[in-house]
Amino acid sequence: MLEDDNELMSKAIEPDSDLDEENKQMNHELIKKHRAIIDKVQKNQQLTQHNLRLIRDANEIHLNDEINSSGHHEQAIELDNWLDLMIELPAKQAFEILEDHLHRDSGTPVLVFRALHTLWEEVTPNDVPEKPSFDSEGKCFKCGSRVSFADVTDTLVFVGDEIVKRHDGDITNRNCVRCNYPKQYSEYKDHDSS
Ligand SMILES: [Zn+2]
Repeated sequence: MLEDDNELMSKAIEPDSDLDEENKQMNHELIKKHRAIIDKVQKNQQLTQHNLRLIRDANEIHLNDEINSSGHHEQAIELDNWLDLMIELPAKQAFEILEDHLHRDSGTPVLVFRALHTLWEEVTPNDVPEKPSFDSEGKCFKCGSRVSFADVTDTLVFVGDEIVKRHDGDITNRNCVRCNYPKQYSEYKDHDSS
């Protein structure tokens, strides 16, 4: 699938193509990423969630090719089912999938929707779904930068004025520096180029 997609994109970046420079650049980048994934597959290396999402995007042409002009439609369906199992679901998406399926079944009792809403409220205490901002390698989904600011909340046990124990805390409020603090980013940008 990735090789097919690369072939299409390679055609689109030939000098006589009418694609603009920015899109050509994007195609270049994507071809590089696809080659890296193909390389990983050949070496039997573990694929990241980001890799899996790129594979899903590349598979889409064959998946939508219902008249099977490429001859890969069946494989594409199988690959898509496999990706469904492998790709992590954000809570919001999980909720939408369940709701969608339940809506299609006219016999679904109201109580099931009520239960779903209870779970929804539990995973989104502030009514804002938690969506991941970084891929499994810690890169910002929006800009690809690896630099982030994060708060860490440790719990300290005090006896009088003395700290007797420290429980290492969780990382909260992790934000991409390039996206959110562009002024401060110049200080750290070397980390992205190294
Ligand atoms: Zn970013």
